[in-house]
Amino acid sequence: MRWENLTVESGGRDPGDHGRVPDAALFGAVAVTSRTIDTPEFAGITFHEIRARSIINRVPGASRMPFEWTVNPYRGCSHACVYCFARKTHSYLDLDTGLGFDNQIVVKVNAPELLRRQLGSPRWTGEHIAMGTNVDCYQRAEGRYRLMPGILAALRDHANPFSILTKGTLILRDLDLLTEAARVTDVGISVSVGFTDPVLWRSVEPGTPAPERRLDVVRTLGERGIGVGVLMAPVIPFLSDHPAQLRQTVRAIAAAGATSVTPLVLHLRPGAREWFMAWLDREHPHLVRRYERLYAEGAYAPKWYQRRITRQVHELAQEYGIGPSHAGPRRRITEPEARPVDDPAGRAATDPVQLTLI
Ligand code: SF4
Repeated sequence: MRWENLTVESGGRDPGDHGRVPDAALFGAVAVTSRTIDTPEFAGITFHEIRARSIINRVPGASRMPFEWTVNPYRGCSHACVYCFARKTHSYLDLDTGLGFDNQIVVKVNAPELLRRQLGSPRWTGEHIAMGTNVDCYQRAEGRYRLMPGILAALRDHANPFSILTKGTLILRDLDLLTEAARVTDVGISVSVGFTDPVLWRSVEPGTPAPERRLDVVRTLGERGIGVGVLMAPVIPFLSDHPAQLRQTVRAIAAAGATSVTPLVLHLRPGAREWFMAWLDREHPHLVRRYERLYAEGAYAPKWYQRRITRQVHELAQEYGIGPSHAGPRRRITEPEARPVDDPAGRAATDPVQLTLI
């Protein structure tokens, strides 16, 4: 164990939200001291424990994101998806965006208590909070630090609407808390499953639970009355976009009982692009030139390609009986019970957010 100073800034430097959304702290800049832990249980992973000064972050108005407020208890993600859009955020901490992103995990150890305090502030008006939009809040570190139960309990007690996007099966540990929260506020859960090909999964998402296990999460939460949308992301050009692959994936998503499916084609933003292209060169060198052409204009595949994938997935979703992504049901599952909450008055519940990011 080492003690050191590590400063994490929020404000304008932090693109946050899976590397796509700038964060700006509501309650001031985040600056902390930390201790650094290497533990045999998590061989190869270093945890940088920090005490954050703020936990609710604002997404700037210019953002295209369908949410304004986020909570991110971790930075870096041991799920290690090669394409991860959040890689660049590690450079703001002077950490490596490649392997360092996968194995240098910043943990905001005071996130639950801080969130409870900030939710109780008169300055907070009870708006929707999105989680898992930067890095996965149910990554492996959560098994050790158990931050989410405290976070969910605070949101439940304040009847504050929220959504979670995850690839982590660990979310099922918190099933009771999610169910309790869904009784008093709107809870939106999305699980990310871009494809079901086991070989591709092992190679490109090496630290994640298998797609089938993620779909088990969809099934289990659905059985508990919490509808789950699937973010079919990323659809990886030339590797997971064959019509037969799309069909297989949508069929599996439908069989799991997802309330919606939203396809998203791979983005290659700076930070992710270099890491992904190095992987492609190692694993599929014959595709490098095709990728250079497809992503010649920048981070996004051409509109025609994105439209084609969206149309195909929506047609398949219709065929398999999954509603369009915007038609998911509200996640509040019963009328609120009489339970002590700090200050629910005047806090208008918002519609659950259908996240459009991985
Ligand atoms: S699970 Fe999400 S945050 Fe984690 S590495 Fe994969 S894409 Fe990035």
